[in-house]
Order: sequence, then C-alpha cells, then structure tokens
Amino acid sequence: MEIVVASGKGGTGKTFVSSNLTYFLRSLGAKVVAVDADAEAPDLLLALGGASENVYSREVYRSRKAVIDHGRCVSCMKCFETCRFNAIELSNGKPVVVEEYCEGCGACSIVCPSNAISFVVKRTGLISCDVSKYGIKVVTADLEVGGRNTGELVYMAKEEAHRIADSEGAKYIVVDAAAGIGCPVISSLAGADILIVVVEPSPQSLKGARRLLEVAESFRTRNLLILNKYDLNPNFSEKVASTLGIEVLGKIPYDYTIVKAYASMTPFLAYSSGGRALKPLVESFRTLYEGVLK
Ligand code: SF4
Ligand code: SF4
Repeated sequence: MEIVVASGKGGTGKTFVSSNLTYFLRSLGAKVVAVDADAEAPDLLLALGGASENVYSREVYRSRKAVIDHGRCVSCMKCFETCRFNAIELSNGKPVVVEEYCEGCGACSIVCPSNAISFVVKRTGLISCDVSKYGIKVVTADLEVGGRNTGELVYMAKEEAHRIADSEGAKYIVVDAAAGIGCPVISSLAGADILIVVVEPSPQSLKGARRLLEVAESFRTRNLLILNKYDLNPNFSEKVASTLGIEVLGKIPYDYTIVKAYASMTPFLAYSSGGRALKPLVESFRTLYEGVLK
C-alpha cells in the first residue's frame, strides 16, 4: 500500500508527517519502505536519523540535451523561435543552447533545416537506498544541480521502493512528495493508494492544498487531511477543513519540541516523551492505521 504525503506548498510539515508516520508504522512491527520524492531538496533520510548503511547508490543518465553544430547552422533562428522552454539564446547572431533549461523535447531539431542539432545524454541525478538509524530503508531521489527530469527520477525511486517492498514483504511504502503540483508530485501520486494532505492554517497553504487535490482527482487516491499547527489560527483551520471537504485525520498543535527533534535528526515520536503535539500525532496515525491501513 502506497501512502503519499504532500502539501501543495512547502514548509507545511510534510516531511515531519512522513518521517513520523514511517517511524510509527515501524514501531508497530510493520515492514515499511520510505521514499524521498522531493528530488530537489531531499531530507527524509536526515529526518529519520541519517544513514547507518548505504545499500547502493546509482547514477541516472536520462537527460537529453540539445547540441548545435555551428559548422552546419545557417542562422535561420527557427530553433530559437520554436523552443518553448527558452533554452536557446542568441550570442553574436548564433543560437546557443542553455543546457539547464533544455528539456530534450526535440522540437528544435525537427524545425532545423540543416540538420545541425543533435542530442547528448547527461546526468539526471542519483537514486540511493540507505538504511536509516532506525532500521528503515529509505530510497532517495536526488536531482542533479540544475537538473530537469524530476518526474522521471521520482518514478524510478518509487519503482525501486516497490521492488524492495516486494522482495522484503513490506506492506507499506511512505512517499514524501515535493512541494507544489509539478512533475515530481504527479509522479508521486501515480499509482498511490492514499494521499495525506498536510496543511497549515494560512491562505497560501489552503490554496496549495486545493490545487493539489485538483491534480489528485485523476489518480483516485483516498484523500485525508492533517491540519498542522492548527492552533496558530483555529478559525482558519476550521475554514481549511470545510473548504477542502476531505476526511480530517488529525489536528496537530504547534510544538517547539518538533523543531528541536528535527534539528537533532530524530523523528519527533522517538525524541519526545511528552510535548503537546505527541498525543494528537499518535492518535492521527492510530486512526489511519486502524481505519484505513490495517
Ligand atoms: S530540445 Fe526542446 S527544450 Fe531543448 S533546446 Fe530544443 S526545443 Fe528547446
Ligand atoms: S534551426 Fe538549425 S540552422 Fe536554424 S538557427 Fe537553429 S541550429 Fe541554426
């Protein structure tokens, strides 16, 4: 069963929820594999205590980049006019590919009248599997700096997690999705069973969550809501719940202990024997486990 934790906006506490949910399931004795699908800024492994063992790391070379042969180029500028990603600039009257922006779509090579554009394959990023300090396998998608193919990298990381889950008999895969609603989030949602939307009581977070749920409509996930830091604005929290109209799994109050746990690379559930957020968090996960996952 694949559970995706996403938010539609950064900074709402989705890694906090996904790392602690993974830890919670593990503490029940369930086998679980975690996936860090936030390929531009992966930190789930750190939130789960860091690596005690690197099982493997594999470089991924899948990114196609256009290359212009200026010996053949007749400076017609058709490639410049065609590129929708602004990946071709002009320099001294000649087209130049800005590699960081190139999506490898091939449109420029189709319109080029002198067959001057070819492609090279570049590094997309790294897929690694580590065992965390708490004995949990974490698959991480780590995008190359300036890289573009996040969706594909996330897809590959999830495939890897399913392979590990199948071979080890793990029932649960917890995916920490990227912020926003772009390609990596769509790849995270594809094939998932449950979507946990983490929202804080702010208009920006609500807007992000609404957009995320619109995207999720195509994937038929069961959608659940966790209101994080709900007590910072209780009235707005009520508005979030009624506006989104999905089942509320729990309301977690702001708790500075969470910040301290995060800074010490320890899941909150492993760090705190008290704290105001502890009971509501455990109750949320218990509701999820008893009512949905079991
Ligand atoms: S391959 Fe696509 S993105 Fe890259 S330069 Fe050509 S048109 Fe632009
Ligand atoms: S389309 Fe081809 S010939 Fe025209 S400017 Fe681009 S590379 Fe040069």
